[in-house]
Amino acid sequence: MINFTYVRTTTAKAAVGLLAKEKNAKFIAGGTNLVDLMKRGVTAPDRLIDINAVPLKQIELVGNMMHIGALATNTAVAEHELVKLHFPLLSLALQAGASQQLRNAATVGGNMMQRTRCGYFYDTTMPCNKRAPGTGCGAITGYNRMHAIFGGSEQCIAVHPSDMCIALVALDSTVVLSGPKGERKLKFIDFHKLAGTTPDKDNNLLPGEMIIRVEIPTNKLAAHSYYVKVRDRASYAFALVSVAAGLELQGNKIVDVKLAMGGVAHKPWRLLEAETFLKGKMATEANFKSAAQIAMKNAKAYKENAFKLKMAPNTLIEALNLAKSKA
Ligand code: SF4
Repeated sequence: MINFTYVRTTTAKAAVGLLAKEKNAKFIAGGTNLVDLMKRGVTAPDRLIDINAVPLKQIELVGNMMHIGALATNTAVAEHELVKLHFPLLSLALQAGASQQLRNAATVGGNMMQRTRCGYFYDTTMPCNKRAPGTGCGAITGYNRMHAIFGGSEQCIAVHPSDMCIALVALDSTVVLSGPKGERKLKFIDFHKLAGTTPDKDNNLLPGEMIIRVEIPTNKLAAHSYYVKVRDRASYAFALVSVAAGLELQGNKIVDVKLAMGGVAHKPWRLLEAETFLKGKMATEANFKSAAQIAMKNAKAYKENAFKLKMAPNTLIEALNLAKSKA
């Protein structure tokens, strides 16, 4: 049993103040990952700061920016008319995540903060540099079917587990944070980090910072967006590979394209080189295949996840074809 104190707060300012007072405190909202981590002994905060009453549930268009509060639930975002109209890619990605019950409780901020589902991370009897730095990585020479093919380090090859974040990185989102030094903005692509030599850190949040909202610029991708998730069962399973694809087409010409992959790296994996290749070209199967080849440059498989070297480009081609044909 772990002992912790529990406190509720109603403003972001008070929440940040409470976090600063206690070194080993954590925010709790939906708790859909944090409670599991506490039950398994992976994390043991001394204090939980319940932020559910902080007014950060807004989903609204402000000028040409969609503002989504950190405490909006995954269901509220996925089913919101403005999100479905302007960012169907985000709605599809959210609907592909977890289960309906979990989406009802999980929040946008919590989704961003969720931790990898690497089995060694959750098993406190096993070595894991992410859970216990310096103990080694069980997965690199062990069971690594779900693990990274891009950006892995010698210390950790875990993958980022979110679907929502794959869409958000493709959509050029920005994260608004609040901390002891005030508010700052971070590009979504820079929010999560590669494992490198600090696999215990999943993101670039500074000590004492809180996620306030995500901002997404409007675009012309809505008519041709698709999220494809390949997984072991049709629901309630993490991605083996997923792809978020958005196309802006003039006839069959690609004016703009946004691509990101999930289930393949320690962070949502944006495919910028493949995007550059496709821009200005025709939306043909041959060009999609060439883009997939470019996207797979630098991929590296481990003993049990070599199948991803085929699955990832095939999923990218499928997502592009589905995005293109979507009316
Ligand atoms: Fe831990 Fe990362 Fe290795 Fe998994 S891949 S055992 S999370 S260090």
